[in-house]
This record gives sequence, C-alpha cells and structure tokens, in this order.
Amino acid sequence: MARSIAYVSPSQLISINRSTRVAIVDVRDDERSYDAHIAGSHHFASDSFSKRMPELLEAVKGKDTLVFHCALSQVRGPTCARTFANYLSEIKGDAGINKIMVLDHGFNGWHASGRPVCRCTDIPCKGETL
Ligand SMILES: [Zn+2]
Repeated sequence: MARSIAYVSPSQLISINRSTRVAIVDVRDDERSYDAHIAGSHHFASDSFSKRMPELLEAVKGKDTLVFHCALSQVRGPTCARTFANYLSEIKGDAGINKIMVLDHGFNGWHASGRPVCRCTDIPCKGETL
C-alpha cells in the first residue's frame, strides 16, 4: 500500500486534532531533553527509530493519524515518517492508521508560532496536546 505523506501546519494540526485521533511523534534526539515539547507527543528519537518502530506501533494503538516532527521537519521528521509508512505497509494486519503526516517547520515552527509547549520530564508525556 503506497501512502503519501502530507505536510500539516500547526493550525491545521490543531483543527484535525479536534476531529480525528492524532498522535504526535517527536523524532528529535537529545534536543527534546533540553528544549520543550508538544504536550502529549511521543518521543522516538531518530537515531534509534528503526529499532523502536514496533514499540511506536504499540504506543499509538487506537489513533488513526500520526504526525511526525523533528526540530525543523526537514530531514529527520520526513525520513522517519517515510520509514514508518514503509514499515506499516510491510506488516500484516491493519494497524488502523490511515494517515501519516509531517508537521511543517517542526517543533521550532510550532514554538515560534506561539503554540503551547510542555516542559515536563514524564515518559511518556501525559499532557493534552491542545
Ligand atoms: Zn510533557
């Protein structure tokens, strides 16, 4: 199954989050620990992403849309989104995930546009996204 990966802006993310079950997947590496993060986002660092894809699949059970991001969503975010889309097409059974997206301009764009961020150290973050 071929999946196209669309980019979503922070305001689009807020509006789709109202109508679908969205999981946000942060693939930044160490930056997550000293920068803030989007509340409720999952953290699967890009350097160990491939190994942890089964764990991610488990963590997002019940969600139908995944939105990946890194700091700027130029390299790591889109790469991990593509890797995960390929993984989904290889595994047997329906994971229930209809859409894989990338947050345009990443965490930095989200933060710069004045969207709320979370600074907790919980793993996973228990915050509400919006
Ligand atoms: Zn948090």
